[in-house]
Amino acid sequence: MFDLILRGANLPDGRTGIDIGIKDKRIIAVETNIAGTAAREIDAKGRLVTPPFIDSHFHMDSTLSLGQPRLNESGTLLEGIQLWSELKPHLTVEAIKRRARELCRWAIAKGTLAIRSHVDICDDRLLAVDALLEIRAEMAPYLDLQLVAFPQDGYLRHKSAAAKLTRSLDMGVDVVGGIANFERGVAAGAASVKALCEIAAERGLMVDMHCDESDDPLSRHIESLALETERLGLKGRVTGSHLTSMHSMDNYYVSKLMPLMREAGIHAVANPLINITLQGRHDSYPKRRGMTRVKELLAAGINVAFGHDCVMDPWYSLGSHDMLEVAHMGLHVGQMTGIAEMKACFAAVTTNAAKALRLDGYGIAPGCHADLVMLQAKDPVEALRLRPARLAVIRRGTVIAETQPVVSHVNLAGESIAVDFSR
Ligand SMILES: [Zn+2]
Repeated sequence: MFDLILRGANLPDGRTGIDIGIKDKRIIAVETNIAGTAAREIDAKGRLVTPPFIDSHFHMDSTLSLGQPRLNESGTLLEGIQLWSELKPHLTVEAIKRRARELCRWAIAKGTLAIRSHVDICDDRLLAVDALLEIRAEMAPYLDLQLVAFPQDGYLRHKSAAAKLTRSLDMGVDVVGGIANFERGVAAGAASVKALCEIAAERGLMVDMHCDESDDPLSRHIESLALETERLGLKGRVTGSHLTSMHSMDNYYVSKLMPLMREAGIHAVANPLINITLQGRHDSYPKRRGMTRVKELLAAGINVAFGHDCVMDPWYSLGSHDMLEVAHMGLHVGQMTGIAEMKACFAAVTTNAAKALRLDGYGIAPGCHADLVMLQAKDPVEALRLRPARLAVIRRGTVIAETQPVVSHVNLAGESIAVDFSR
């Protein structure tokens, strides 16, 4: 007797007509025509059932704060950082929690059940750390929230960032963060990478660093990050986020850089919605896209995931926290329109992200957590095309969010025709 059986599902790897049997919060069978009964059965009717979406790069302390205290008129990264510093003194734990909780509900409704969020530690009160540690615990039954100690104003540049970073890790923040490109100069950026990787090595933690988030073709912090990763034996535990400079770097240099990143086992995270809007702001025409070289990184054997980065905050006014919207933008910006490339964009918000976050028990196989999303689409490419309703979101074997199938009715010549855009 199962707790739940999904019948007739299509899986992201192309298998069709698959039943998924769940018991005691785990997947215990993935096969055609599972014999036996369950407390609840869901007929997938040939729809795509995927492991949940994962946001590998987000800022939950600033999310949904749009307009406080004012809007970002220039649309630049630096005005966003300035705006955030104006808002910071007015933050309260309750306000951060209220906004974060709302965002988590949006994420769950969209089938995103793991988020890695940076949390700004350049604040004497560490209010955001307090607030998000509470939200992490509150949401744990429904969503994995991984927190990164993020020195927004620079680890070396901000006078008490080092002490605050140590304190936030002592309080239970999961991952060591940084922002090498915001330090004062190239040498300081490299020194911050070294110091932060050493902290991670000492504590046995992962690293996720805002790295080379500019259009500067000579930015080299990802090189420092890869070298420190190798020196300290952090292989597989380090993520370089944004890496937008790679878009503008010299091709010969990149041909040396990518093998180094692969050897170091660096994960790369691109944030397509944000990179395409924040980068290239100093260009006239031609105007650079600013997103890192996703296609080439993947071809070089480097794990690439996509993050949402921002939703309605000082840096980005839009978004509903839909990781399919992120993948859709990544696909377009990266010109990844081949079938295998589109599937790679779907993987960038599912399996690749799980690898970067080092989530255990992720996937659709016996023994995995029973965390699944059923979409109103038949396969990953259709999911990217339609960004459809998440019909059922399942966490540890329980349906925690449901959306009715979306169908329009077109009335033509006295006849009502149902349209759901599937083919
Ligand atoms: Zn970020």
